[in-house]
Amino acid sequence: MIYLDYSATTPVLPEVLDSYNKVTTDYFGNPNSLHNLGTKSKELLDSATKQVCELLNINIEELTFTSGATESNNIALIGTCLANKSNGNHIIVSKLEHPSVYGICDYLNTLGFKISYVNHTEEGVVDFEDLKKKITKDTILVSICMVNSETGVRQPLRTIRQIMNKCKANIILHSDITQALGKIPVNFNDFDLASASGHKIFAPKGIGIFYKKKNIKCNSLLYGSSHDFHPGTPPLPLIVSFSKALRIALHEITKKQEIVAKWNEKILKNIVKFPDIKINHTKYSIPHIINISLMDIKPETFIHALEKNEIYVSSNTACSSGKMSTSVMALYNDKTRAETTIRISLSYLTKLEDITVFLNAFNIIYDKLHSLNE
Ligand code: PMP
Repeated sequence: MIYLDYSATTPVLPEVLDSYNKVTTDYFGNPNSLHNLGTKSKELLDSATKQVCELLNINIEELTFTSGATESNNIALIGTCLANKSNGNHIIVSKLEHPSVYGICDYLNTLGFKISYVNHTEEGVVDFEDLKKKITKDTILVSICMVNSETGVRQPLRTIRQIMNKCKANIILHSDITQALGKIPVNFNDFDLASASGHKIFAPKGIGIFYKKKNIKCNSLLYGSSHDFHPGTPPLPLIVSFSKALRIALHEITKKQEIVAKWNEKILKNIVKFPDIKINHTKYSIPHIINISLMDIKPETFIHALEKNEIYVSSNTACSSGKMSTSVMALYNDKTRAETTIRISLSYLTKLEDITVFLNAFNIIYDKLHSLNE
């Protein structure tokens, strides 16, 4: 099998799965229980939480474990709007967000919040002048995805923050860092709130993080038996797995990035040979995601042909497959281009043999399907 869909999800690393199994068996006590099984679990919970915070260079009170980025995005946007509504009812998001953010915006709209969608440049980066124009006295939150899941375009968050600060003090900046964490260095000083999922960094599904800087007002969306921000029994095996996966992902991250950049270059060098294929890539795209438009071939047909060779890629994102790529449409305003995308996503675990086999299959399938249209 050749797996090239790492931005949709990753397999669980064997050593992470070992930790998951060990904690499930040996630490089944509820960390909230007072007996020694509970205490043992609580100690492990505290040490895993501490490890995550040290790795991310954040404070313990700033971290909440969630079920994943969708939940974290909900807390970030809804919780912040509810907690800050006395300061205004306006939020700004980019046109290159994950679909979950747009679903949340639709809901916030029903609660009376106004949403503005900031334009971006041809290269996919937030248009600073448009951002300045869109900020009003009622703006309370700006949410900008750090790396777009379909095209890999990365946003200059620090500059965005500087522009926000010049226009109005105290606007909260949230970033969905799901496609950035563990792939490129992330500086948590660049934003106030952040969301990410463990299953993009070789941890199991069902665990994610929500980051909230101290002093930022954001309501909890869950009510329970305690006054915790995220009440309920902590999923200890998932939390320990997350901390282990994060440690592995961040270890020699630059070296891992270089490996991915090498594979990216190899694939693009092959694909540019086909003049009818469009490459949906700008100078701001991270190397982990390669998005192309086949233009005259249905992506489903292409993906299933690759699948027959046990090669797995996706058509736009796993979250919006079957529909047009909203990010490619936002970038190029070309319906055919947006409807015929495939996304090849890479990891440092991808091997040269995988790339060679993939490119051979790609070339044969493309020539065959493209010739049917000639
Ligand atoms: N944000 C981004 C940028 C993503 O890529 C994804 C997953 N594709 C999500 C949010 C949602 O993550 P999850 O499905 O783990 O909740």
